[in-house]
Amino acid sequence: MNTDLLKRLCETAGVPGNEHRVRDLILSEIDGLFDEVTTDPMGSLLCKRKADRADAPKVMLLCHMDEIGFLVSHISKDGYLYMQPVGGFDPRNLFSRRVKVCTDDGDFKGVMNPGGKPIHISSAEDRKKIPEVGEFFVDLGMGKKSHDHIKVGDFVVMDEPFLEMGDKFVSKALDNRVACWLGIEAIRALADQGRGAEIHVVFTTQEEVGLRGARTSAFKIQPDIGIGIDTTLSCDTPGIPDKDATTVQGAGFGLHVRDSSFIADRDLVKQIEAVAIENDIPYQRTMLAAGGQDGAAAQQAAAGARAVGIVVGTRYIHTVTEMVAQSDLAAARDILVAYLATFK
Ligand SMILES: [Zn+2]
Repeated sequence: MNTDLLKRLCETAGVPGNEHRVRDLILSEIDGLFDEVTTDPMGSLLCKRKADRADAPKVMLLCHMDEIGFLVSHISKDGYLYMQPVGGFDPRNLFSRRVKVCTDDGDFKGVMNPGGKPIHISSAEDRKKIPEVGEFFVDLGMGKKSHDHIKVGDFVVMDEPFLEMGDKFVSKALDNRVACWLGIEAIRALADQGRGAEIHVVFTTQEEVGLRGARTSAFKIQPDIGIGIDTTLSCDTPGIPDKDATTVQGAGFGLHVRDSSFIADRDLVKQIEAVAIENDIPYQRTMLAAGGQDGAAAQQAAAGARAVGIVVGTRYIHTVTEMVAQSDLAAARDILVAYLATFK
């Protein structure tokens, strides 16, 4: 398993509208893997592998490059940075975070906290309040000099290293660098199989703010089949009833049947399930009550496509401790390879 690539993908900063560093890393990794590589006006990276015949179906894999983060919206006269979130943060997970502010002139380390008093001088009542995301600020430790380096629109990410622990991976950006990894590693493993389909692997932008890059790239490609590759919830941890688990870690890749953005194509679900069984690839069917993913954009592009999701169950999602099971990630790679290889 190419852990080094996943680590580098996870530790590269890229929030919605600012995916350029991730795109550059992917570009350097996919040398020779595809027949045509282009970047579209929204910044998505479109990678096409030609079929060996003219009437081959178009299969599109969608892998979003962006991670949740912030854009600097205001710099106070004393040099504190205020931000707008790009992506869904729970403010309870934002206290006392180390962050990185990314600018064209380099990156700056900072610490994030909400306005307010420390435990020694706060009241019991103060400590019960959960601040809004907009009440958090970043201190760069340079006071008014922040004005010399930071501009409104610069982006901010959590600053945490990638970890391999037990049989899991942990990172702040597994959502959705696991898909970037899968889009590269599956095509690498496919080698020369699957030439009966025209395969488009698209590394999309701005998924976390509403599947925006997926919409335009799917409109351009007009696939017959769209596969949204992403993380999903894995709530198999204390404090959550079994019925809300969504996925159980270690039980295989997620075959995504429904979320609030789409309902997967019935036949495609059955077909991929049959390929998983035939190849002994562990899987679990999954559904989400809320939340969407790029497969929906492919499904609804132009006159429509058949679509499904291949997902990896992720604990503690949208926190700096996002965790996936290595075996689930391997299963997601294996099903992509096995399914694409059926296009002979
Ligand atoms: Zn995602």
